[in-house]
Amino acid sequence: MPIDTLTPAPLVDTFGRTVSYLRISVTDRCDFRCVYCMSEHMSFLPKKDLLTLEEIDRVASAFVARGVRKLRITGGEPLVRRNVMSLFRALSRHLAGGALQELTLTTNGSQLARFAGELADCGVRRVNVSLDTLDAATFKQITRWGDLARVMEGIAAAKKAGLKVKINMVALKNANQHEIDDMLRFCHGEGHDLTLIETMPLGEIEEDRTDQYLPLSQVRRALEERYTLTDLPDSTGGPARYVRVAETGGRVGFITPLTHNFCESCNRVRLNCTGTLYLCLGQDHAVDLRAPVRQSEADDALNAAIDEGMAIKPRGHDFVIERRGAAPAVTRHMSSTGG
Ligand code: SAM
Ligand code: SF4
Repeated sequence: MPIDTLTPAPLVDTFGRTVSYLRISVTDRCDFRCVYCMSEHMSFLPKKDLLTLEEIDRVASAFVARGVRKLRITGGEPLVRRNVMSLFRALSRHLAGGALQELTLTTNGSQLARFAGELADCGVRRVNVSLDTLDAATFKQITRWGDLARVMEGIAAAKKAGLKVKINMVALKNANQHEIDDMLRFCHGEGHDLTLIETMPLGEIEEDRTDQYLPLSQVRRALEERYTLTDLPDSTGGPARYVRVAETGGRVGFITPLTHNFCESCNRVRLNCTGTLYLCLGQDHAVDLRAPVRQSEADDALNAAIDEGMAIKPRGHDFVIERRGAAPAVTRHMSSTGG
C-alpha cells in the first residue's frame, strides 16, 4: 500500500498495542560508569555513526506526526552530548503546536545545575534523575566516577526551575538496600516521587548480576511493615506501578521487569543514537532508520521503515536472573539502547 505522507497512519503493532511513546538515546557516552549499567572500560561508538541532532529531530518529528505524544531524551548521559539543548529547543515546537504532550528526559543529574533553567524554558516539565544513594562513598562505589554533591546541586536546581523531579533508584542487594527508607524520606520531604527499579540483565558488566539483584516484591513487603501503602491507578505512561505512602504523603513507583512482566500494556519503542529503532528493551528486534533518513529528504522511506518496526514488535521480553554467570538477555547495555 502506498504511504500517505499527508496523514500517516497511527502506530499500532500486531498485538493491537498503540505506540505513543518514543525514547531517544542521543549518545551512548556517559560521565559515570554505574556498576549495573556499564563496565569501567567501555568502548563507545565513533561519532560519525551517530545521527546528527537535526536527524534525531526529523525522526522524532515523524513519530509525532504518527501519534507519538511523549518523547523522552536519554542515553548514556543525554546532557553530555554537545549542543543537546538545540534538540530540546527544536522539539519544543511540537509542544507549542499541541501535537506533543510531553517532552522529558532521564539524566544522572551531573549537568543539571547548568541546564535546568533552559530545559524548563524549552517546555520540559518533569525530569527523571537517577540517584541510588545519599551516601557520598556509596555513590562513588556505585557510579565509579560520579560526585554526589554535584548531583544534589542539580536536583536542587531542577526544583528551583520549577521542574517536577522523579528520582530513579536501582535497588541493589547489599549496596543500597538499607537506604530505601532514607531515600523515601528525602524524596518525599522534597516533594519528589521515588521510583525503585530492579536490575535488568542488559549488557556485560564486570560483576555478576545475581549478586546485585533484589526483587522489589521483597522490598515492598519490607516497606509495608513500616508504612501504609495504598495502590494508585496513576500511570505516567511508563511501566511503573505507584503506591501512596500515608506517612509521608508521597508516591513510590515500582518498576519490576523481573517479578512482574509489564509488556502487555507496552506503548513504547526506543531509538538509539545511531538511528536503530529497538522495538523492545529486552529483545533484539530492530529496524534501521538512519539509512532511510539519509536516503531522501521526504519521509516516505522513513515511514515505511517505522511500519516494518511495528510489524515485528515482539510480545514482550523474557528476562531472568537466576543462573549464576548467565549471559545477559541482550548484549546491548542499557546505555546504548536508552533507559
Ligand atoms: N544516564 C542517565 C541516567 O542514569 O539517568 C540516563 C540513561 S540510564 C541508562 C537510564 C536509567 O537506566 C537509569 O535510571 C539507570 O539507573 C537505569 N539502568 C541502567 N542500567 C540498568 C540495568 N541493568 N537494570 C536496571 N536499570 C538500569
Ligand atoms: Fe551513565 Fe546512566 Fe548508565 Fe549510570 S545508568 S553509567 S549514569 S548511562
